[in-house]
Amino acid sequence: MTLPLRPDLAGLTPYGAPQLSVAARLNVNENPYSPPPVVVDAITQAVRKVSEGLNRYPDRDFTLLRQDLATYLAAESYVDFVEARNIWAANGSNEVMLHLHQAFGGPGRTIMSFAPTYSMYPEYARDSLTEYVAVPRNEDFSIDIEGAVAAIREQQPSLVIVASPNNPTGTALTLDEVRALYAATEDVEGGCVLVIDEAYAEFRRAGVPSAASLIPTHPNLAVSRTMSKAFALAGGRLGYLVAHEPLIDALRVVRLPYHLSAVTQAVARAALAHHRELQAQVDEIRAERDDTVEWLREQGYTVADTDANFCLFGPFEDREKVFEGLLARGVLIRVTGPEGWLRVSIGTATEMALFRSALLEVTA
Ligand code: PMP
Repeated sequence: MTLPLRPDLAGLTPYGAPQLSVAARLNVNENPYSPPPVVVDAITQAVRKVSEGLNRYPDRDFTLLRQDLATYLAAESYVDFVEARNIWAANGSNEVMLHLHQAFGGPGRTIMSFAPTYSMYPEYARDSLTEYVAVPRNEDFSIDIEGAVAAIREQQPSLVIVASPNNPTGTALTLDEVRALYAATEDVEGGCVLVIDEAYAEFRRAGVPSAASLIPTHPNLAVSRTMSKAFALAGGRLGYLVAHEPLIDALRVVRLPYHLSAVTQAVARAALAHHRELQAQVDEIRAERDDTVEWLREQGYTVADTDANFCLFGPFEDREKVFEGLLARGVLIRVTGPEGWLRVSIGTATEMALFRSALLEVTA
């Protein structure tokens, strides 16, 4: 029997990077630290408590979690207008993005992004039958705003998604750039939603702003975040988004009922209650990131300026060979970005020391 697979899915393989048990796993931009014991205890207690009610469906609107996310975002990004009704959440920001495509994309519609960028973007588009258009970035991985404005005018996308800091380059947008992109989307016939994907926002360098501060004056702007990176909670699966209420209401229409389990909600709330303790780990990762960038530059590599917990470096004549050499020494990084570049996620000081010595050996 043949499977009636959609022709556009024929021969495709699932997205995913290797999950290998090696000394330094630096390939998927995870937080290298376990949640601290105080957070583990809080999560354990919260799950214990919620378990007694698992015979019932969870709060479909995850009201308390939305409230906690609003409070956290207000503190982290110095914005005080965010209320629970401005927050959406799902199983990772991957699912938040899928909801955005289901609500604002679809057949006959276009989503635009700026390459190189997060490799899941074309997949959300494919899965929601939306046309994906990638406009190339400048050589330094910044966005050519003039070109972007022209492309938006020409392509008339209903969704524009920009990762800031961008994966895999680490490049952050300025608020003026966000304003300019938004202004261009205002001219799209039928409307357009501008999504700034701030999965790595907490790692941004001092003085780099979050687009969240622009939400009050920009009704079709959405800023998405995740607990997978800064909160050391990739395994908990919680991503969220802030926007005006009508945009949130549109996402509520396409979500599956009870999409956030009671356990997920409890775990996320327990971690949010300890965001200050978790911030200490973020500060360590940022310092380690800056040291890594400096060291790579001292070795003569070009390193893209980064506001994230990873850096893109190169050029290598044969990047696959370097990747394999590092892996043979227990260091797993990522072959991604333009030809010749490699991306390394920032690990603990011990892991980064291993990365440095392995790289010196491989390239000796
Ligand atoms: N956006 C970007 C730019 C990412 O790099 C990632 C994770 N690699 C995500 C979104 C998705 O993260 P999650 O689903 O774990 O929240």
